[in-house]
Amino acid sequence: MINDHSPLNPPTKEPLGIETLLLDAHCQLTGWSARAARFVSATLKLAEPVQTLLPVLAGYEASLEQVRRGQLPQLYLSPPDCPKGEAGLNFSLTVLTYPPTGGLVCLLTDLNEPNRPEENLRQQREDLDILRKQLDLQTARLEELSQLKANFVSMTSHELRSPLTSLKGFLDLVIEGVAGPLNDEQHRFLKLASNNTQRLTKLTGDLMDIERIESGSISLNLQDFDFYGLAQVIVGNFQVPLRERNLTLVFDARLRHYDVNADIDRAEQILTNLISNAVKYSQPHGRIVIGFEEAPSNMLLTRIEDCGIGISEADQKKLFQRFFRGANASSGGSRGNGLGLSITRALVERHGGEVGVKSTLGEGSTFSFTLPFAVPTATE
Ligand code: ADP
Repeated sequence: MINDHSPLNPPTKEPLGIETLLLDAHCQLTGWSARAARFVSATLKLAEPVQTLLPVLAGYEASLEQVRRGQLPQLYLSPPDCPKGEAGLNFSLTVLTYPPTGGLVCLLTDLNEPNRPEENLRQQREDLDILRKQLDLQTARLEELSQLKANFVSMTSHELRSPLTSLKGFLDLVIEGVAGPLNDEQHRFLKLASNNTQRLTKLTGDLMDIERIESGSISLNLQDFDFYGLAQVIVGNFQVPLRERNLTLVFDARLRHYDVNADIDRAEQILTNLISNAVKYSQPHGRIVIGFEEAPSNMLLTRIEDCGIGISEADQKKLFQRFFRGANASSGGSRGNGLGLSITRALVERHGGEVGVKSTLGEGSTFSFTLPFAVPTATE
């Protein structure tokens, strides 16, 4: 039976001889207090399922999951629902969510132990100390694994990058006819191979950026430059896809020159990501507008507006998460890895700016970001 005592109002008459079991999200043991063994039916060891230790919990899997997710305040079992432990001890069992690990904590209260508050308090302090040490060990292990993962991603991305660049270079030379004339089919196949090589190169670059963002090691080479001019150069790179999809791209700005203080390569990456999305998610014959305006705090606001497939309200909340691809994108058959927007946001924020999005499903989207002006006010 599940009793409905709230965690803030536990039954008051029970003495304080409390032991603790810590569980992970799969209800497997990750830690325990010094004298917890006297309540359980099997040897305490890491990764042991809680139902093996406390058979009384078999059948309560759904309730445990509800407690873990915070949908149920607690699971509380006491005699006769909670049978005597191995040593014949009467005990009650309270299971609570344990946010630091995303798992659960089981509090086992010895109902036979006399109430000796000072002794109990000292015991609990010792137990907490042991738990803290176990938690520290696990945190150190997690940090070690996270570092291993970061090294692996960084090493494989670096190793893949050079051969991919060389592969693309040679493919493009052959496509240009440097190694002899090609028939139409050979040209088409090699073009496909070259495009896919480029996608792989972009993926390795994105993975390296994500790793740098996570480790906080992105460094900026700040300088003053005309962002309007850079935007025009970048738009030049999109002439082929714009033409292929019959899209119009126009600028909307009061001035023809906006000096910003930013890392020019990163600024190019930010704008390229957003224009590339506007092109990718536009309907054929659509119109894309790149607008510039002065924003508060001496920032330049750039907006990229499209009248494409738009984004649902639910998806807008998750847009900037790593690897997130909206339902619109996946169903439309467009390619992508879901990393562009999370990198874009991190880069903008690294410059002290902000990103924004407004969108209506089926009507279009406007992405915007701010970068600091080079001088207190923009000059023409
Ligand atoms: P990718 O485009 O590679 O999937 P992004 O991180 O750039 O990854 O974008 C994440 C998701 O945001 C996309 O999969 C798509 O669902 C949505 N999205 C981004 N830009 C637009 C846009 N201009 N119009 C509609 N949806 C967009």
